[in-house]
Amino acid sequence: MIKICKFGGSSVASAEQFRKVKAIIDADPDRKFVVVSAMGKRFSGDNKITDLLLLVNAHIKYHVDCTSLLQDIEARYVELAQELGLKYPISEKFEAFSANIKKHSPEYIVSRGEWFTAQLLAEYLGLPFVDAADVMVFHHDGTVDMERTASRLREVVVRNGAFVLPGFYGATVDGAIRLFQRGGGDITGAIAARCINADLYENWTDVSGFLSADPRIVENPRSIRRITFDEMRELSYMGASVLQEEAIFPVREVNIPIQIKNTNRPQDAGTTIRETATEGQDEHLITGIAGKRDFLAVHVKKAHMSNEVGIVSRALSIFERYGVSIEHIPTGVDSFGVVVQASDVKDKIYSIVADIRRELKPDDITMVDNLALISVVGRNMSKRSGTSGKIFGALGNAGINIRMITQSSEEISIILGVDSSDFERAIKVIYESFVRDELV
Ligand code: ASP
Repeated sequence: MIKICKFGGSSVASAEQFRKVKAIIDADPDRKFVVVSAMGKRFSGDNKITDLLLLVNAHIKYHVDCTSLLQDIEARYVELAQELGLKYPISEKFEAFSANIKKHSPEYIVSRGEWFTAQLLAEYLGLPFVDAADVMVFHHDGTVDMERTASRLREVVVRNGAFVLPGFYGATVDGAIRLFQRGGGDITGAIAARCINADLYENWTDVSGFLSADPRIVENPRSIRRITFDEMRELSYMGASVLQEEAIFPVREVNIPIQIKNTNRPQDAGTTIRETATEGQDEHLITGIAGKRDFLAVHVKKAHMSNEVGIVSRALSIFERYGVSIEHIPTGVDSFGVVVQASDVKDKIYSIVADIRRELKPDDITMVDNLALISVVGRNMSKRSGTSGKIFGALGNAGINIRMITQSSEEISIILGVDSSDFERAIKVIYESFVRDELV
């Protein structure tokens, strides 16, 4: 079995974390392919190496001396190497990098966060270091050249049989370093998993996978053992994010499951994300509940609207004209609503409403702000009737007014709009009446 093991910044933030990573790798002979982020925060208020390197770039840009900043970064690596007794000449290498700091590109500077971390981890784990600049190939437009990357990675696998690969960066064919977006180590891991046909992409982080609700709202929520990619998209879109979103696509297309695991609690099962869930396992009705505040709905009402061709599309094109993306369009017979993120329309909403009034000549336009959306997600909801009725009943009993309802087309989620002031209470009520009930 081939596993890609990606360790995030918090998993490698200190010598203690390095020891945990080694114990995880040593516990399973299938764990030979490691992708690693730059050292992250050791405690809250600490700095991520990547952030410090970005700060170095800012200093250079504005011609501010960054010697002491570079010394701070070096000190973190040196301390780690000393504590673990590593032989890698970290001071020498880091000073060579610092001495020429102004000659390097900003991307190169930032990429050294993962580069040095991976050098140290490779020695500590006794696995070969592979430079991402040699294998992760970017087109000049910033997208990844999958074919070249796959063939280079496969060569490395045949030659070395194992690797520690720094995440987050690669290079164009002419050697210029390119970066993924922030959190991009997850993307490197996913691409590596795909290119070497891994059976599993293990993503090691500091939480034990996805929780069925936000622990700041629901006390001790159930963790999600299995989730489908579609369900995860719904939940992460609504704010329950564990994984860099872009990291899903490379593995999803070739059906490689992702397992989210906790470096600090490796005994926890974590969450496995795959295309389809195996029947008979974890047959919970609701997989998870997530939500976001600060939406705004514009409701348009016009008699006999249902006979008027193109009215909704004209309304949408007005939003498009103002560059506003639309979240939901709940419709009635002679009315429809357009739900958008309040921050997207901050300075534009009155112009948008004026345009709707002029171009659509509606009987009435109303605006509902302070709207919070709650997404109740569950692949099994489509198989059982009465779910929405039960949700509405529970909210009604709690005296919570539902201001909007939509359902995703595959029936894997029900989205409810409630007043922002009811947001947390609504999530608690839904959780208590569904998820807590099912706990065994
Ligand atoms: N080090 C990069 C960041 O902090 C990439 C990563 O951690 O995945 O964004």
